[in-house]
Amino acid sequence: MTFLDFNLSEPIQKAIDDAGFKEPSPVQKEAIPLIQQGHDIIAQAQTGTGKTAAFGLPILDKIDVEGSVQALVIVPTRELAMQVSDELYRFGRFAGLKTATVYGGTSYDRQIERIKQAHLVIATPGRLQDLLKSKRIKLNPSFVVLDEADEMLDMGFLDEIKNIFTYLPKERQTLMFSATMPDQIRRLANEILNTPKTVSITKSESTNSSITQNYYVIAEHERDDALVRLMDFLEPGKCIIFCRMKKEVDRLASHLTSQGFKVGLLHGDMEQKQREIAIKAFKQGNTDIFVATDVAARGLDVNDVSHVFNYHLPFDSESYVHRIGRTGRGGKTGEAITLVSPNELRAIKRIEKDIGAKMIMQSIPSKSELRSNKENALIEEISSNKINEEAITLVKTLQHDIDIVTIAHLLASHIINKNVIKGKDSIGFGLQEVEKLLEKANTQPRDKKGSYRGNSRNRSRSRNDASNNRNRSKNRSSSRGK
Ligand code: ADP
Ligand code: MG
Repeated sequence: MTFLDFNLSEPIQKAIDDAGFKEPSPVQKEAIPLIQQGHDIIAQAQTGTGKTAAFGLPILDKIDVEGSVQALVIVPTRELAMQVSDELYRFGRFAGLKTATVYGGTSYDRQIERIKQAHLVIATPGRLQDLLKSKRIKLNPSFVVLDEADEMLDMGFLDEIKNIFTYLPKERQTLMFSATMPDQIRRLANEILNTPKTVSITKSESTNSSITQNYYVIAEHERDDALVRLMDFLEPGKCIIFCRMKKEVDRLASHLTSQGFKVGLLHGDMEQKQREIAIKAFKQGNTDIFVATDVAARGLDVNDVSHVFNYHLPFDSESYVHRIGRTGRGGKTGEAITLVSPNELRAIKRIEKDIGAKMIMQSIPSKSELRSNKENALIEEISSNKINEEAITLVKTLQHDIDIVTIAHLLASHIINKNVIKGKDSIGFGLQEVEKLLEKANTQPRDKKGSYRGNSRNRSRSRNDASNNRNRSKNRSSSRGK
């Protein structure tokens, strides 16, 4: 099947070709024909599976460029409004279609002006409700889309959404898209959809199989060390680190910055302008690491995110799905990494069950593993150099006092010392240790704090070289190398 099978108008098809889309994704294959036949739909598919184009293409195809606003897309966050708007503009531009983006925190007047010129409005619930309620705008769209419906409900927008629909025409085609389908969503669907068709991309198709999911068991106080070690080992391209709280985002971002990483951050307390700047810097690669809260990073669509880190487990399985969906997008592969303490192991099992995927336990590379890894890279790097005139002079001078082998050793040490691997030798629990912990958890009652730590923790601590513990800090940036 190709996009040609949808018989879309020529300018839309041209935009699809331009975007390099070859084959429709499963949700697109199912949803596009149903939308073209005029059905209301409720569609469930994992994040990163192309839901925007699934509703965008058939809608754009039907829009009359002479008319006013004919489609309204409601999304949970400002960031998502901008992204969906960009994507729809991209597909509609050859057809001359204009989008208006509506969200809180910016001028009403300018948005109202844009709406008057637009064929499609992409809006967040709060600002949209404001505009409709105060009668500053009136909309008469033939298409209404609720995108990322589950997130909107999670964020407490149910009342706003219901209220918004009281201002919309009864004669309309309504499309609901969601990564998950909790009861609340079904109830809302019953209210606002008219005999909808269901599109459900089954779990195996839906759980984006291009994302490898790993987790590492560590002690609570080892989170920062574990993260830095994994960064050093994996050398990720762009990555997002999720935290539960703003406070943690701030702290972790400054910690990682002090370690020489190029870090950006995103949370709900930031002003709109700051958020846009942060996202842009991350998209353009001026920062490699983005530390964010769930809410702030909802729907964030940045290409080429190679890794998503869960610094802490999210509160529920749905957030987990949304978080890891920031990587492995548009047919690329990605890796999701979760740090858990022993008493969070049960939560891992629960997530696996909820999402129907397997998470693989790994152990954090020790210093020596990392070292031998780096050694090969270093040998490669050294032998690829051209000999420099100054180097010859330098070696001649050194040879007055030192023999040539010692000089070589000294020079090699000089390089290695610059790339010193920080942190203690081993971080976190090994696979066998975790198995023992699990056994214990299953045979022993929990202690008062509900933790399973027991003695294994002490044993594992004694294997650490305490003197290495304090060795990190200096000169991080030189070891980054990039
Ligand atoms: P979702 O809304 O399901 O999370 P998006 O609509 O944001 O997913 O799409 C994720 C990424 O995949 C986007 O960058 C989009 O441009 C890309 N994409 C969507 N459909 C296709 C396709 N058929 N072929 C290639 N890339 C696609
Ligand atoms: Mg989406």
